[in-house]
Amino acid sequence: MATENERLPEGLGAVFARLIAATGPISIAHYMAEANARYYTSRDPLGAAGDFVTAPEISQMFGELIGLWLADIWQRAGSPDGVCYVELGPGRGTLARDALRAARQGGLAPEVHFVETSPALTALQRAAHPGAIWHHDLSSLPSDRPLLVVANEFLDALPVRQMVRTAGGWRERMVGLGENGTLVPVAGSRPMDAAVPARLARAGEGAIIETSPAAATAVQEVAARLAAQGGAALFIDYGYAEPQLGSTLQAVRAHRKVDVFTDPGEADLTALVDFGTLAGVAESAGARWLGTSGQGAWLAALGIGARAAALARAAPHAAESIEAAALRLTAPAEMGTLFKVMGLAAPSWPNGAGLIRASQVTVAG
Ligand code: SAH
Repeated sequence: MATENERLPEGLGAVFARLIAATGPISIAHYMAEANARYYTSRDPLGAAGDFVTAPEISQMFGELIGLWLADIWQRAGSPDGVCYVELGPGRGTLARDALRAARQGGLAPEVHFVETSPALTALQRAAHPGAIWHHDLSSLPSDRPLLVVANEFLDALPVRQMVRTAGGWRERMVGLGENGTLVPVAGSRPMDAAVPARLARAGEGAIIETSPAAATAVQEVAARLAAQGGAALFIDYGYAEPQLGSTLQAVRAHRKVDVFTDPGEADLTALVDFGTLAGVAESAGARWLGTSGQGAWLAALGIGARAAALARAAPHAAESIEAAALRLTAPAEMGTLFKVMGLAAPSWPNGAGLIRASQVTVAG
């Protein structure tokens, strides 16, 4: 097997190294955006044989409960006609398959729209959902009908920007060249003190502030659509409820954490999602923030226990694996607490099941 260094010459790492040698360090946001664009374009990263496993790939229960949530809020909003199901970054189309099947049982059979940039994953989605309509970004989505928007592990893949506190003040955190042409994090040369919020400006040397302008833009666009057209949205991701200091950027390959700056484009780069900030962004754009709950608490409130029991009765030979999947999705030590579910809706739409706006509930598992 080739080592990382042997593979670099043909890869994005070599392209970055040439660019940096010619024009200087590039921002973390530039690095992450290009690395993930390369990463997702060429492969299906999901599943045991890939790099990581997501909730809809663990169990059909995850998508089904999302479909029930959507059908429930849609019914209580008066079952408006012509509503669209919109999924951002639908992966293999598994979540949509399970959610739409469950939604149909609640009388909801929406037109299906996918926002996806990866040709490899679009091909898989097309096989699973031949009638869907694809978009490269949110701008071309229908503008005259209510939208039911779902995004699971989408925001975490969008590029983050980082500032680092140096002895000389705040600088953008960038990627430069180390010894032997390796890629290493460096502080930019331009003072960035004016870009740092006053309450964080005094953080100690070495402190890092991470923001995701791209995630904020995506949530802002969805929120503005909900306010103008009606509808509701669920953003599910791993993240934190209150802003914090430090880099959360990580690279995962073959189910293991690897170095962020080695072999860009060959590992999945993600960062924790700042749900507190995004709820504020959504409200400023005119949507209603319905609450942000731990994934475990939310799935429990929607009845994952009863659904697991029903599936196990129907397939007794699989009872153990169904129970294990439910635990993986909900246990605090697994995906139950770190993963969060943020609900948004149009101002005139009702509350969403399982979501409570109190801040102490926000962080509960
Ligand atoms: N939601 C799926 C897949 C998560 S992986 C699941 O839960 O299994 C991230 C998804 O977002 C992939 O489908 C990827 O191709 C897509 N994606 C990443 N960056 C994107 C971008 N900038 N615009 C649209 N889709 C993007």
